[in-house]
Amino acid sequence: MQRIEAGSLRGRRLLPLPAGVPGLRPTGARVRGAIFDRLQDEVRGARVLDLFAGSGALSIEALSRGAAGATMLELDARVARHLRHQLEVLSLASRAQVVRADALAWLRAGRGNAAPYDLVLVDPPFALPHVFEPIAQALVDGDWLAEGAWIVCERERVRGTTTTVAWPAGLVLERVRDYGQARLELLRRRGDFSPEAHAMQAPISTRAARIKPSATLAVLARAGELRAAGHRILNFSAGEPDFAPPSAVTRAVTEAAQAGPIHYAPVPGTPALRDAVAKHLSEVHGRRFERAEIFVSCGAKHSLVNLFLAMCNPGDEVVIPAPYWVSYPDMAGLAEATPVIVPTTRQDGWRMKPEALEAALSERTTIIVLNSPSNPTGAGYREEDLVALGEVILAKAPQAFILSDDIYRELCYDGFRYVSPIRAFPPELAARVVAVDGVSKTYAMTGYRIGYFAGPKELVAAAQIIQGQMTSGPATLSLHAALAALTDPSVPAEVAAMKEAFTRRRTLVLDGLRQVPGVEVLPPNGAFYVFIDASRYTGPKARHADDVALAKWLLEDKQVAIVPGTPFGAPGHLRMSYATDDASLAEGIARLADAFGSLA
Ligand code: PMP
Repeated sequence: MQRIEAGSLRGRRLLPLPAGVPGLRPTGARVRGAIFDRLQDEVRGARVLDLFAGSGALSIEALSRGAAGATMLELDARVARHLRHQLEVLSLASRAQVVRADALAWLRAGRGNAAPYDLVLVDPPFALPHVFEPIAQALVDGDWLAEGAWIVCERERVRGTTTTVAWPAGLVLERVRDYGQARLELLRRRGDFSPEAHAMQAPISTRAARIKPSATLAVLARAGELRAAGHRILNFSAGEPDFAPPSAVTRAVTEAAQAGPIHYAPVPGTPALRDAVAKHLSEVHGRRFERAEIFVSCGAKHSLVNLFLAMCNPGDEVVIPAPYWVSYPDMAGLAEATPVIVPTTRQDGWRMKPEALEAALSERTTIIVLNSPSNPTGAGYREEDLVALGEVILAKAPQAFILSDDIYRELCYDGFRYVSPIRAFPPELAARVVAVDGVSKTYAMTGYRIGYFAGPKELVAAAQIIQGQMTSGPATLSLHAALAALTDPSVPAEVAAMKEAFTRRRTLVLDGLRQVPGVEVLPPNGAFYVFIDASRYTGPKARHADDVALAKWLLEDKQVAIVPGTPFGAPGHLRMSYATDDASLAEGIARLADAFGSLA
């Protein structure tokens, strides 16, 4: 590091400052110290703009501390010549240019190609607010400053007092120091205070950066934009029933809202709801759950995240069969665990084969995810499948826990019935199953955000700590709603009507897709999706490179919103939701037949 203290540097002679130039004075060592002590390493690589260069001491010091380059403005011809000489002597001429110009006029003439700058030195002679204010404004208006750029201002105090400068929005005063007759101010460019600018400045953790945004929501957003622009979009991307919740649910919420204050609920849910969930899930899984084994959260998604966070340490492995619901790998990532993907095929009914599971298991396996029926394939596990998988788990990863995501359990068709792994597994493994469930799909209550799990008490306790620090208990009104869904005797008939509609639409879609050339579909056991193999229409020889491009084309050109398979771990596929009305389904199938016909 070089400091320009006196008239020579490493034996090379520096010229004294020219005499008689008004306002030209050497920069005080204390001022320089204050600047560089604050800037420290930020000087390295900085692009420097020195608006009133004078002796150039600050720029030269910045260059000697590793600044990438400096543009130095100096109006006085003698001083400018002197400055060029000093730069030559110091071997800094290749990184610095001296421009003879008035600072304000130069700034207003437009941005040079060395801009934006990271460090701007404003040290004008006899500086008063009327000098600073237009310069600061021109720096901001002309986009001269890099994000986070520093502006160093030194100005004289008039008779011991300092007038206030009105800094433009986007500059933040970070430090003020008074030195005798001078005041030093360090300002920083902090965006234009728009939300976007702030988002760019916020520190983003590696944990957050690892997680991908939901692909299904992205399709929905684009479909919404096209709809707003006047296009008639047929939307088959929905992950929720298009029905109203059972009337008893709406009634319960209304009554609770009118009855009195709505206070915080207990973190794991109200005792009444936990008891109702315990009773309900005891029937489903054929073993008695107590209240202490039930934990309620803001949606099944939230239950799953609580569990991943409660159970996984960095490096733990989470086994996930593909095609998978988009969120599982990212939830594992959030918990800093490693997803281990087990591929399945349509030929095998989109079910994990025991050998494939075995190959994925290790002593680091903490969680195995089961999702039956599945989003996106609708495939459900039969009893014999679960028995075979259970044997493999006990043999190869007896420490692993099974998260059984049963959110589509009630929506099964064509003779398929949900089989509980707790019933199918031997007792020593059944004790390691955590059953995740909720009201979103069965009762068309996605917006109420209530999900729950049944599992070991220590997991309930851990989830309670995590949720207690994140959201507290779920929304009190939603807890009332969920209780009604699980207990009101009128609800099952309304659920049956919804299921009937889904059954009819499933047939309509499957029949329709048989008319679409070149696509293959395995009839789903449950949920409300069909998973379409469109790989014939993707790839290097096809018109669309992949399913993402294909889905984009279907949306933009054919006005059909359908989700690509890649985010589900199944390239070449499309997920079509039939949670929409029959007429839209019929028209959508016709559009798909037409679209694929044109590609065939
Ligand atoms: N699991 C699966 C497989 C899902 O498809 C969804 C919803 N898309 C959820 C869990 C989350 O449900 P909830 O609305 O209760 O958070």
